[in-house]
Amino acid sequence: MSLDKSRELYKKARTLLPGGVSSPVRAIKPYPFYTESASGSKIKDIDGNEYIDYCLAYGPNILGHAHPRLKAAIIAQLEKGWLYGTPTELEVRLAERIAGIYPSIDMLRFVSTGTEATMSALRAARGFTGRNKFIKIEGGFHGAHDAALVQAGSGATTLGKPDSLGVPADFTKHTLQVPFNDIEALTDVIERNKEDVAALIMEPVLGNIGPVLPEGDYLRDVREVTEENDVVLIFDEVITGFRLAMGGAQEYYGVTPDMTTLGKIIGGGLPIGVFGGKREIIEMIAPSGGVYQAGTFSGSPASVATGLAVLDVLEEEDVHRRLNATGDMFRGRLMEIVADLGLDYSVCGISSMFKIFFGDRPLNYSEVLRCDKEGYLGFFFRMLDSGVFLPPSQFETNFLSTAHSEEDIERTLAAYEANLK
Ligand code: PMP
Repeated sequence: MSLDKSRELYKKARTLLPGGVSSPVRAIKPYPFYTESASGSKIKDIDGNEYIDYCLAYGPNILGHAHPRLKAAIIAQLEKGWLYGTPTELEVRLAERIAGIYPSIDMLRFVSTGTEATMSALRAARGFTGRNKFIKIEGGFHGAHDAALVQAGSGATTLGKPDSLGVPADFTKHTLQVPFNDIEALTDVIERNKEDVAALIMEPVLGNIGPVLPEGDYLRDVREVTEENDVVLIFDEVITGFRLAMGGAQEYYGVTPDMTTLGKIIGGGLPIGVFGGKREIIEMIAPSGGVYQAGTFSGSPASVATGLAVLDVLEEEDVHRRLNATGDMFRGRLMEIVADLGLDYSVCGISSMFKIFFGDRPLNYSEVLRCDKEGYLGFFFRMLDSGVFLPPSQFETNFLSTAHSEEDIERTLAAYEANLK
């Protein structure tokens, strides 16, 4: 496999873009492949290599790349213009559909990214409660805004320390952290900061270090303890929304938060973010309330029109039932491969999310960190060589899409078997 053109382009890209990329995780060492095009389950680089794609743009492409019905929706909207700066019927229609699917959402606002969605959701929760602090889960990722960019601390009560240069400690001192799957730690932090905790924001399934799944009644207990203490529970379903089920993890697990953030899938590959929740909270947003939030591209007609088409396809084609069954089958086969090879790795996942952890099945961030990161990177390259593109990190979730054919899956399983040996 030649990557000569990518290697050359990387040299130039590095002089123009930090690390040669537009987002850090793309900077595969020693250099990434640069993409020429993608269609269905396949992504093709500028050297002409083609890979079966399980990264799928880190989640949005649940229908694969360049799905014909999404493409038609985008083109139809482009014919009518694609940015107006005025309200549209499209956004009212999409809002109505989303609110009909997510019982936690009475009202919502469209934004352009998941980052904006969680940043604004936290502002709304703080504005609504009049409190300053929020709690996040260690290893949970909610986008690259200051208050959420906090290193996973070791103790449950560790006050937030910025994870990035350029973020004053003052901006993160209200960010508290607890380990996932630990209801005692959460109860304890809420107890100790009782008067000043506005919200708990969490991925119900940790997708950014995982998938790491909630154990037993954890999510139900989280709901109970937040409700008892008037802490706004925000489920960040930017990954799990429209993935585990139409109604995301909250439908799958039957736990309803006060607020929800969405993104990725609902834009069909175009930029989008959504934050929504109880009417009394979302009414706090300007211009109806005093919590300011705004955006030139918010409710972008092309993204919203594509979102409506995504919902049509997901509903009409019974995508979640089919894809979840494929996920179960795929993980089952992977487990057999790992067992046959006598490896002490763990196959984790749910629905169409999966991953082999090079170590024991983790329950939280610190356990994930014990997995063999370097070993995984070597495996990633062997898979790439076999024509399979996995996300290039032990910490990213792999995704299945409706575009993966039986043949793709058989080829992929054969590649796993050969490369895990
Ligand atoms: N929340 C979660 C759970 C995410 O996975 C991500 C992105 N991976 C974000 C928020 C941020 O979304 P975006 O990259 O669209 O800003």
